[in-house]
Amino acid sequence: MTLSECIKPELLVPAGNREKLEVAIAYGADAVYFGSREFSLRRRAGNFSLTQIAEAIAYCREHGVKAYLAINLLPYNADMAALGEYLKALQPLPPDALIVGDPGVITLCREFLPGVPLHLSTQSNTLNYLSASFWQKNGLSRINLARELSLSDIAEVVYRVPGMECEVFVHGAMCMAYSGRCLLSAVLTGRHANRGDCAQPCRWSYALQEETRPGEFMALEEDERGSYIFNAKDLCLIARLAELKAAGAHSFKIEGRMKSAYYVAVVTRVYRQALDQLYLSPKTSFPPEQLEKWKNELTRVSHRRYTEGFIDGQGQSQNLQYHDSSAYLRNYLFCALVLEVVSYDSANQSCLVRLNVKDRLRTGTKIEVIAPGMDDFITTILSLQKESGEMVAQVHSGTIALARCQGLLAPYQILRQPVADTGAEI
Ligand code: SF4
Repeated sequence: MTLSECIKPELLVPAGNREKLEVAIAYGADAVYFGSREFSLRRRAGNFSLTQIAEAIAYCREHGVKAYLAINLLPYNADMAALGEYLKALQPLPPDALIVGDPGVITLCREFLPGVPLHLSTQSNTLNYLSASFWQKNGLSRINLARELSLSDIAEVVYRVPGMECEVFVHGAMCMAYSGRCLLSAVLTGRHANRGDCAQPCRWSYALQEETRPGEFMALEEDERGSYIFNAKDLCLIARLAELKAAGAHSFKIEGRMKSAYYVAVVTRVYRQALDQLYLSPKTSFPPEQLEKWKNELTRVSHRRYTEGFIDGQGQSQNLQYHDSSAYLRNYLFCALVLEVVSYDSANQSCLVRLNVKDRLRTGTKIEVIAPGMDDFITTILSLQKESGEMVAQVHSGTIALARCQGLLAPYQILRQPVADTGAEI
């Protein structure tokens, strides 16, 4: 067995808020990353206050999961004093690593949190082994390699920079700009991508206007749906994990701090199963029917069409853009997250559960349940109550409700329904 076959890569999962963090851990994350409210990218992800960071780190430690805190904005002079104060406040509760992307931030982290490992953010766009070596000499213990690298590029960085942990994105949204270093959103909307607030204008539909004819828009049409010229597909490397592992990648990262707890559950569960299988039989690729099942499951979360990105080299770039539409594909509704089991009625084989309702639920509905570490199953919603105890025929998104369900459910299980069964318009 080679060294890379012995290593079990880490599964690193986004935790946009506390609920998603708990779901990520329940569904098999080895490590989670989350943002500080003030200094992380993904400003609209929810993010964590200092108190919440302390609680999140404690929760991760209880569950044997690593907690990485993202401080990966690209700051201006005016941000530095506050950032120093913030890092001082982190001293009593150090995370397992800080994700950073700026040399100034690195300088401050080494001053105020000298013992905490530093992981280089994808924003730093590391494309070659000399850059990786530079960062290693400057005290970074891990780099997130740029999504633009091929498999052989990744293997070469790992080989030439021993001791540096290399993290690769395996799943999630991609930018048409180099690792998100892009001013399009700042220029068009005032929302800065490098401060975590991208409005994704690259995915908008554009028209052409001749300058002496204001208001007369000529459609840029590839077909009747228009043209979405910069709209990147989503990355999905489930079929390439064995090769990435053989290349020596240390950590497999899932993108999506803005995505739902349902997305976190489904994607984490699939990649957890795949990594565990890879560990048990490292030399084989996945059986085709198994791979098909995982790929199919990954289409059940909101996504754009999938691509394997640059893993086979830049020549594959024609497969990166999706020109028909920038809309997400969504064929399942995230209906509810089970918060707790209130009681179990063994005589009737039903349980009363407290739900965080994410989409409308009706009594009498047969509904699919996904669960950590077990096969999906179907339950029936026998009755519904509002939090106040009032019995109702249906409950709505954004509420907490009590549901009596057939069989026995458990916390962190998720209720979902095919869109076709709900009549919902997406
Ligand atoms: S506008 Fe598009 S390319 Fe630019 S940072 Fe945002 S998502 Fe990336």
